[in-house]
Amino acid sequence: MKTLHQRILLDGQALSDQVLKVDAFLNHQVDPMLTMDIGREFANVFQSEPITKVLTIEASGIHFALATAAALQVPFLYAKKKKAVTLTEELYTAEVFSFTRQETFQVSVSKRYLHAHDRVLIIDDFLATGDALLGLINIVQQAGAHLVGVGAVIEKSFQDGRSKLEAAGARIHSLARIASMSPNHIEFLETSDS
Ligand code: 5GP
Repeated sequence: MKTLHQRILLDGQALSDQVLKVDAFLNHQVDPMLTMDIGREFANVFQSEPITKVLTIEASGIHFALATAAALQVPFLYAKKKKAVTLTEELYTAEVFSFTRQETFQVSVSKRYLHAHDRVLIIDDFLATGDALLGLINIVQQAGAHLVGVGAVIEKSFQDGRSKLEAAGARIHSLARIASMSPNHIEFLETSDS
């Protein structure tokens, strides 16, 4: 997605060859117009298949799931990282290792909102090690729902997340794929739609 590539080059900052800071427009301060464009792009990519629900994980996936779900006109659901006191019903849970925090945490989704008849599109901000997305795939499988695909806004293609998700049988589409980066250079993978 060209506008996203340009924005990453303009406002993104590679802190190292591993970590990209995008809090100027993506996961702290948020550009709503870009976010809505991203939602429409994901909807276009995946809409050839029926989708009944968009699933993400709090917090940085929420606005992209909202934009995608609005474009598809379906509800979205976000997995919670802490068990809320109001979440009294039964839960699907999965363990996730956080790349940025270097710790394991549990994510959960109420059984009330994810069912075997659902056709689910998973959306998240980053595909890095793939652990967060694998946790969500695990939850979709626990529900017996159908996984339509996985959409990531930014993929760090030099990490092994994509191959792990492919091994789990997921169709993946990332809007910006970074081949490599360093504090003064970001290189994208050339794809047919970039
Ligand atoms: P995973 O390693 O499980 O694919 O990534 C989990 C989460 O870590 C992502 O959803 C994202 O929020 C965060 N993350 C991973 N790599 C980066 C990065 O390079 N920059 C930022 N800002 N967040 C990242």
